Amino acid sequence: MTTPARKQYLRIKSQYPDTLLMYQVGDFFETFDEDARIAARELQIVLTSRMYGNEAVPLAGIPLHALNNYIGKLITAGYKVSVCEQVGEVGRGVVDRAVTRILTAGTLSEPNLLPARQNNYLVAIAMGRVQTALAAVDVSTGEFLVTWFRSEELPVALDAELQRLNPVECLLAEGSNREAYRFPTQTVTVTACPGHFFNSEMAQDRLCKLFGVQSLEAYGCAHIPQAVAAAGAIVTYLEKMNNGLLALLTGLKSYRTSSYMVLDAHTQRNLELLQGTRSGSVQGSLLGVLDRTITPMGAREMRKTITQPLLDLNELDARLGSVEELFESPALRSRFTMSLQVFSDMERIAGRIRQGTAVRNEVLGLRDNLEHVPELRELLRGCEALLLRELAEEMQDCQEVIDLVDRALMRSGEEDEHGDDGRLIRQGYDTELDELFASIRDSRRWMVSLEGRERERTGIKSLKVGFNKVFGYYIEVSNANLKLVPGDYMRKQTLVNAERFITPELKEHEARILSAVERIEEMEKGLYGEVLRQISVYYAQLAHTARLVARVDVLLSFAVVAVHQGYTRPQLEQGHGIDIRDGRHPVVEYALDGDVFIPNDTQMEADEGRRIMLLTGPNMAGKSTYLRQVALITLMAQIGSFVPARQARIGVVDRIFTRVGAEDDIAAGKSTFMVEMEETGTILHHATPHSLLILDEIGRGTSTYDGLAIARAVVEHLHSRLKARTLFATHYHELAALAEELPHLCVHAMAISDEDEHASIVFLHKVVEGSAGKSYGVHVARLAGMPMSIVERAEEILYQLEEGQQASDSRLILLPEREEHMGVESNGRVAESQASYHWQSEEARQIAQRLEAGEGSS
Ligand code: ADP
Repeated sequence: MTTPARKQYLRIKSQYPDTLLMYQVGDFFETFDEDARIAARELQIVLTSRMYGNEAVPLAGIPLHALNNYIGKLITAGYKVSVCEQVGEVGRGVVDRAVTRILTAGTLSEPNLLPARQNNYLVAIAMGRVQTALAAVDVSTGEFLVTWFRSEELPVALDAELQRLNPVECLLAEGSNREAYRFPTQTVTVTACPGHFFNSEMAQDRLCKLFGVQSLEAYGCAHIPQAVAAAGAIVTYLEKMNNGLLALLTGLKSYRTSSYMVLDAHTQRNLELLQGTRSGSVQGSLLGVLDRTITPMGAREMRKTITQPLLDLNELDARLGSVEELFESPALRSRFTMSLQVFSDMERIAGRIRQGTAVRNEVLGLRDNLEHVPELRELLRGCEALLLRELAEEMQDCQEVIDLVDRALMRSGEEDEHGDDGRLIRQGYDTELDELFASIRDSRRWMVSLEGRERERTGIKSLKVGFNKVFGYYIEVSNANLKLVPGDYMRKQTLVNAERFITPELKEHEARILSAVERIEEMEKGLYGEVLRQISVYYAQLAHTARLVARVDVLLSFAVVAVHQGYTRPQLEQGHGIDIRDGRHPVVEYALDGDVFIPNDTQMEADEGRRIMLLTGPNMAGKSTYLRQVALITLMAQIGSFVPARQARIGVVDRIFTRVGAEDDIAAGKSTFMVEMEETGTILHHATPHSLLILDEIGRGTSTYDGLAIARAVVEHLHSRLKARTLFATHYHELAALAEELPHLCVHAMAISDEDEHASIVFLHKVVEGSAGKSYGVHVARLAGMPMSIVERAEEILYQLEEGQQASDSRLILLPEREEHMGVESNGRVAESQASYHWQSEEARQIAQRLEAGEGSS
């Protein structure tokens, strides 16, 4: 037979089937049934069982106070957790309970459950026929964004934005295909929401109501139903999960990704902007080099800054001017550093105040931050750079908040003039509260002096007055002294070595204190909540000021890194040129740590000059490093950072595309070559004359001649049609011959010295004009420690091949003409090659076949 308690549990649980229900039972949160099995496994807590009637129910519980820690673990493991608390009077019958909040990865705002230096985005995708929108919210900072894409921009543009935001949770309309979206991390929680969440008319009403407006015109997305739907879905979801979070959403920011330099998802990964491929963490990434920010909000701003390079020359000039001023003055840098060091995470604390969840120390921390705002503002006002002075003018110290906190809150451990310690609300803030304190002050004093008085009266030196939650106040006498206990002591509790007593007088004072304390606690809680609400009125100013602090932090970080790493201010301009003198790769250089990084020049002239740079050289010579270096210097210039070069002049780039290495997509069942061709197709389709293309080893994934043919066709297309600045690395030194036919193409090579006494080669890492002439694959194999017998045999085969080539007068292969036999279709795909190749000798054909089949030599 089911008991009423069990019935209550089952009723509540049935309303939250897809969550793990944490169910308050006294001082514990319990989980039952399958939830208990999961909790026991994930949290490594004991699984037991409890009898309800004659039914044994699996049970696992955690102490009330440990909830947050455990919830963090469950959410990281991908679960949603609902918290059901006791809300009614404990006493007769089953106590009332209600789910007070549901926590998911994307709705967390507890600071100890979140990484401080990273945003925590919940996104919603609304797919439409013409437009698809992506809305994102970080409930820990109140940031609420929406953007949208035309269908022909998909999936590239959406993938890029997902990669950039790196959401922890994504809302999709029920029935959508999760597989259609490429999330950067496997652990993202995908939540299917009922279709009406995404209904744009309902969403419109919801958003208008939330912001207290008649139309969404002011938010820049009123005309895009999908954008409204995606933002609306987020609001509906938050409302359902944790109503309190809605207070954080004070506005919606619409943006278009085309206002920034576009970096598709591959490029973000290939250039290792936020994450090193090898380390899987910040180490080895551009962020790892550039981020010297001091505040948590500054660190979050840095990530956004790196992934949203600017296109506007004026904005860039403003940033670079600010960095330059800080760069020039060590004194200014150290003053700014000291000023920023006192700031805590104002942005998130402001959010928690708005939600009513901030604890006293957070509020006091925010107050102290505000006290330092005028100092930072003065520093900024004293600067030359216009941007820094503009930031100062927007910064608000919210003196009203400081005054309010000073009037209302005591610091923990602080004692006031009456000796009342442990007060939360300061004396003088509320008359009724002060009267309550006064009313018990006598009793408290009496209590404090009781121990001394009783010791004297009874002659028991070891007599103690104490308090515990269950028994209240008591006088404790050790067993040895029991004979001295006076007649008015009444026994209350027996311990092993002592007895505890109470007296009528003590009881009277106790009653007075306890009832007042209860009332005080209640009042303080109410007054504290009221204080939070009053501070919340300033939420928008507080959050804005926090973001301004973050921007100062980022500019300072750029300056500090520039000084440490010896960067210079780049010169940005309209036009299609790139001129870098003594450029270095910021991340490789940083990792070399003392070893010398060899600098290299890059000169790509505007429209009529060299647009395509073909870089030949063996593996390991430094081709990839050089290619990425050019892309990273360009990107750094366009985020307003100084760059690792002696000087750099950059014509603003609208997109960087990279096709670097072979990023296998085995999971999707595609071959390396297929992926390579798809990516190349995408690039050719989307690039403009303002773009920068970094193509590494196109055609490597297939047989030599296919590869060479495709590489050539791509180069020709880039050269004569697309006209985008391109760096093209290849180990097909045969391609170098193209320079004679294509006027805007120049050929460079990574210099190699084979003068080494051990007949092996030395990489000089220097880019020089001209072609590598021959390939050094066999040398590299030797360097890599391949067995000597293999290396020697390979040299033999190579010799035979080269002999064969020289024996015939003509070129080894006949390259197919672009467009006749193969070409790039208008949709950007590379058409199948129809070329046929002519071997120069039967022997060469056989050797090549054997090599391709992976057989050894005979
Ligand atoms: P490739 O693409 O030609 O195979 P990489 O660019 O991967 O070669 O470079 C191989 C290694 O050589 C890098 O890991 C780096 O340590 C080193 N290297 C590359 N360029 C330089 C340079 N300019 N100065 C110093 N070391 C370099």
